[in-house]
Amino acid sequence: MSKYMIMSKERLAKSIRNIPDFPIPGIQFKDVTTLFKEPELLQELSDILYEMYKDKGITKVVGIESRGFIMGPVLATRLGAGFVPVRKPGKLPAETVEISYDKEYGKDTIQIHKDAISENDVVLLHDDLLATGGTMKAACELVGKFNPKDVYVNFIIELKDLNGRAAFNPSTKIDSVLEL
Ligand code: AMP
Repeated sequence: MSKYMIMSKERLAKSIRNIPDFPIPGIQFKDVTTLFKEPELLQELSDILYEMYKDKGITKVVGIESRGFIMGPVLATRLGAGFVPVRKPGKLPAETVEISYDKEYGKDTIQIHKDAISENDVVLLHDDLLATGGTMKAACELVGKFNPKDVYVNFIIELKDLNGRAAFNPSTKIDSVLEL
């Protein structure tokens, strides 16, 4: 990684606001809106993401509701790829495929349109943050049902202490911009 890239990542990391005890006591919420609102930082993040994936032949960026809907379409546009939303139940208007997964308390379900991905696609799944990995692991399984050519997984932030990577099959190609 170039010196310029390390410095720019430090700037991005510093711009993320930490909100203690949100949405529940004990959670340190990483607020990316303080990065997104700065034009230069937003451009830098977009540049870094583009550099990470420009040679991978990505044809679809799949964003996870809701913070994956911010940089997901930005990245899709830069890569010349399409954008596909993965949403909570009842939000997508056409026929969907869904998957349920265990959360700390109870279950959750996510859905994707049945015609969103084809076997010829190279998919990049994107969300803002990797915590326990539960949501993204389920999204990977959901996308896997379409049998795409290849799958990449991206986060802006990875919370290292939570070791969310352990939730995934070791062959999963996971990359994050910032490790906090
Ligand atoms: P997980 O399934 O545990 O990896 O949780 C990931 C999802 O929850 C992502 O969509 C994040 O936006 C959100 N999330 C979890 N923990 C945090 C946190 N500490 N700060 C901000 N967002 C979080």
